[in-house]
Amino acid sequence: MSAREEPSDLNDLYREIILDHYRSPRRRGRLPAPTISREGLNPLCGDEITLDILVEGSKIKDLAFQGAGCSISQSAASMLADAVAGKSIPEALALARAFTAAMQGSEEVGLEELGDLEALTGVRKFPVRVKCATLSWRLLQQALESLSDN
Ligand code: ZN
Repeated sequence: MSAREEPSDLNDLYREIILDHYRSPRRRGRLPAPTISREGLNPLCGDEITLDILVEGSKIKDLAFQGAGCSISQSAASMLADAVAGKSIPEALALARAFTAAMQGSEEVGLEELGDLEALTGVRKFPVRVKCATLSWRLLQQALESLSDN
């Protein structure tokens, strides 16, 4: 156990979901020929994420992530991969915006539309860790926005 483990007073259900994604990450790895890749760093905590996205038409056909860092950052990336693979670009962007807004304290986002991601909202009590949870989502948002600009 490192000193950078998940905050100790997260509620148990949230912690269980986060640890499950951390221990068994979904879609971890690299894609052979991604349409777009993004790398990001959260210097506050030392988290690193690389996101590969394969787009076909207006759909996210495949997606994979690689990274290192705390359990929050890595499980957030795993949840992202699970949540947006197969979605259309507008749907994925809407989810990314809803999630970042919820993490920044917005009450307008219904938590039920976030699925497993709701577990990460427990991290809002720890402002320093919010950047861990949103790192991969910001990369996704930047990547998809740059695609739709073209
Ligand atoms: Zn972190």
